[in-house]
Amino acid sequence: MNYIDLHVHTTASDGLFTPKEIVYWAYKKKLSAIAITDHDTIDGIEEALYYGEKYNLEIIPGIEINTDYQGSEVHILGYYIDYKSTWFLKILKEIRFARYNRAKKMIKKINDLGLQITMDEVIEVSGTASIGRPHIARVLVDHNYALNTKEVFEKYIGINGPAYVERYKITPSEAIEYILKCGGIPVLAHPGLIKDIHIIKELVDFNLQGLEVFHSKHNDDMIKLYYSIANQYNLIITGGSDCHGAIYNGQPLLGTLNISKKYLDSLKAKKNNNKDVE
Ligand code: AMP
Ligand code: FE
Ligand code: FE
Ligand code: ZN
Repeated sequence: MNYIDLHVHTTASDGLFTPKEIVYWAYKKKLSAIAITDHDTIDGIEEALYYGEKYNLEIIPGIEINTDYQGSEVHILGYYIDYKSTWFLKILKEIRFARYNRAKKMIKKINDLGLQITMDEVIEVSGTASIGRPHIARVLVDHNYALNTKEVFEKYIGINGPAYVERYKITPSEAIEYILKCGGIPVLAHPGLIKDIHIIKELVDFNLQGLEVFHSKHNDDMIKLYYSIANQYNLIITGGSDCHGAIYNGQPLLGTLNISKKYLDSLKAKKNNNKDVE
């Protein structure tokens, strides 16, 4: 068997399971390797590595950097990053700080609309994760200012809402550059969720090295399409569930795509190849 999952979130970002719990699930599902790819943070990696060793499970240190491409969301995965690199940590810290300040601005706008919520309440919801609009939404719902998250986005914090504040922006090419600079392999996440796939060609020119062909939101036609695009541009093929911890039929999404270990082998070959070029 030897199945792997190269796209997994933990409580370090917006996942529901701690790194320890996710490693235990991977062990129970008899996976041979998983990559920890939290949004804009490496905080879950060390704990996953520690338990990975205990459960004899290979852990690939990774990240998923949220970027902005002409107003839409593009996510860049980075595998085998040097997660101890001080300058990389500094960049991540800047992103985090910018999100914190943005949340403060949004709360000010929300207060000005007459809705009484505080930054402390939002931080209580976000925990150690970097603050996003879903956290603010949850606090508003808890206060009964809206029925659900959807209503909060529609009324207040959606892109055209009265309390919306723009996010600090990183471009996909910057994310690729950061990942390469700390020894990682940049891979475009879930192309099926991106509106304009012409971006792939553009990112290849910026040294993109892989494409996430297998993903929980990709149907068979998409898989075929991205498979051929990956071959066309000589990109390595990766795949993962993008498990955030939600439970389906008593189990998390983790490992459900049955991705062959051969894709990890090509990721490793790319890593070694990058090293040789250095
Ligand atoms: P942020 O990065 O703080 O701007 O928040 C973006 C996140 O908000 C997305 O990843 C979604 O999870 C969530 N989101 C965006 N738009 C909506 C919406 N209309 N309804 C519910 N959640 C949304
Ligand atoms: Fe997420
Ligand atoms: Fe993503
Ligand atoms: Zn993800």
